[in-house]
Amino acid sequence: MNTLRDFAAALLEQQGAVVEPEGADGLTVLSPSALCGAMGWPEFARLGFGAEIRENVIRIGLEGDWLEKFEALIGDRGRWVERQLGLPEPHSAPGAPERILEHALKLPNATWRFRKMTPAWTRCLVLTFRYTAISDEKREGLVWIGLNLGTGAALGDLVLRLRTLLSETDGWQAPEPACLERAGPRWSTALVASRVRPILDHVVRQELAPFLGAMGHRLERDRDRVYAYHDELRALALKRLAALEDASGEKAEADRLREHARVAAIETEYRAKLGDLRHNYALSVSVTGVQALEILVPVQRIEVLIRRRKGERTVSLDWHPALRLAEPPLCEWGLGFSRTRLVCDANLHLTETAGQAPCPACSARWCRACHPLSCPKCGVPQTSAAGHVDDD
Ligand SMILES: [Zn+2]
Ligand SMILES: [Zn+2]
Repeated sequence: MNTLRDFAAALLEQQGAVVEPEGADGLTVLSPSALCGAMGWPEFARLGFGAEIRENVIRIGLEGDWLEKFEALIGDRGRWVERQLGLPEPHSAPGAPERILEHALKLPNATWRFRKMTPAWTRCLVLTFRYTAISDEKREGLVWIGLNLGTGAALGDLVLRLRTLLSETDGWQAPEPACLERAGPRWSTALVASRVRPILDHVVRQELAPFLGAMGHRLERDRDRVYAYHDELRALALKRLAALEDASGEKAEADRLREHARVAAIETEYRAKLGDLRHNYALSVSVTGVQALEILVPVQRIEVLIRRRKGERTVSLDWHPALRLAEPPLCEWGLGFSRTRLVCDANLHLTETAGQAPCPACSARWCRACHPLSCPKCGVPQTSAAGHVDDD
């Protein structure tokens, strides 16, 4: 199976071409004129998707500008899609919800009690972003961020499992109206953006960490090399100057002037070389949204009563029968990838531990979900973004 060939065949057919498979990794394509223009091939073309180069066969691969040409053909279609994850209903419910909660929920400063579990439909939003980092080298990639709009939970690693599951699912099931209704409303763009921004920032940084590390090593190596080279030249010139110290006469004076000029030139060149390094290694990172996929997912919704001092509150946590996994609990401040939540006194917010950390100025503990901008006691602004991930 050649995934790129199958993708190209489907896309070209959709663009009005007549496509026939040829051998294990080829296609013959009869294209309408607009498609010929867009792809730069004749009306009748033979395409090869394998490694070998054959006569009269246009080789299509991931290199070159083929992906850009396919992207142009797709245009804006498919940027937002909605599908349903089909499971035979009624799907199996887990036998011991308490056991699931024991693994899924860690509350160091509160207690919880299982209330009930009911089958439900939820809306999971999976956003795909492409990042491009350019310095002396280039790194590109995709990241996925998932939110359960029904419970408000960030899906964390579950999003990759969901994607795998969808890619293994045959066919495309459009959402049934009854399921859409049961799944509840969408979120406003502003709400999605406010939740996604810190998660995206964290995920892209994590993706780029090895690239940035390697870049740092190369920069260090080049800087050390530039330094060593110029330091040696300078030391030689200074040595010659020292030897000329006691000499007198016109020639000695001319030699001294020459060596001084040499030292100055070496220092100027060194600074210029550092400037070049700064320029070569300057980093720019761009992130663009590629696709928003809304998946209607059958879940078992577990209601949990949370108690902190005299307060109590019920929150929902979904168990995904398709993945046989519970998602991370709701997180009202922080990324929410971990399973640990601290509960605040005033409103019983669930936050990551950093969300209830002592104030750096007055040491009072405060809830960042209640007071996102500054310490309510001394007014010191909250500076660190909600980008920290707890270890469980
Ligand atoms: Zn709070
Ligand atoms: Zn304070």
